[in-house]
Amino acid sequence: KKLEKLASSDALTGLANRLAANDRLYAEFARFKRSGSCYAVMIIDIDHFKDVNDNYGHAAGDQVLLQVAGALAGAVRDSDFVARFGGEEFLVLLPDTLLARAWQVAEKLRLSVESLPDAGFGRVTISIGVAAVNADDADEDVAVRSADGMLYLAKASGRNCVKLADASV
Ligand code: GH3
Ligand code: MG
Ligand code: MG
Repeated sequence: KKLEKLASSDALTGLANRLAANDRLYAEFARFKRSGSCYAVMIIDIDHFKDVNDNYGHAAGDQVLLQVAGALAGAVRDSDFVARFGGEEFLVLLPDTLLARAWQVAEKLRLSVESLPDAGFGRVTISIGVAAVNADDADEDVAVRSADGMLYLAKASGRNCVKLADASV
């Protein structure tokens, strides 16, 4: 049990790690294919995070990562899934959720990070790309790639915002 937990969680934040996220995505996509229960995926990236490391040091960066992880985990339902997907990137999976509600949840997450108390490293914001799974998706990566594309758009649109992929479920 202990080894399993170690292998599936992120050492810094205690969130699920990328390995666990991939497992969950695979399982959720299989469930979608079987029962048609739609889910949404968000890719979240901290804005200008390099500046925190550069201006205040790596330990400050780690502290901000912990703060953001806590804000995300605290703002979603127990049935939702939050993972640290990469360095300063997070993945959120919302089971049984259509794009319209996913947008509401993404806005809630964005606001909860924006309103974190300033720990002395400046205001922290996140950009979010959101996509829902589609009936013609070849595999679980399609929605993730789509959310990632929307994240790129959110960055290009000035950051601290949410961008949705077109719904066609
Ligand atoms: P953008 O708004 O475009 O996302 O800008 P950014 O500065 O956040 O993006 P960039 O990809 O340039 O920088 C990401 C930084 O995240 C660089 C890397 O040093 C830092 N980082 C990644 N993982 C960790 C970590 O575990 N701890 C700390 N302190 N920093 C990390
Ligand atoms: Mg990044
Ligand atoms: Mg970033």
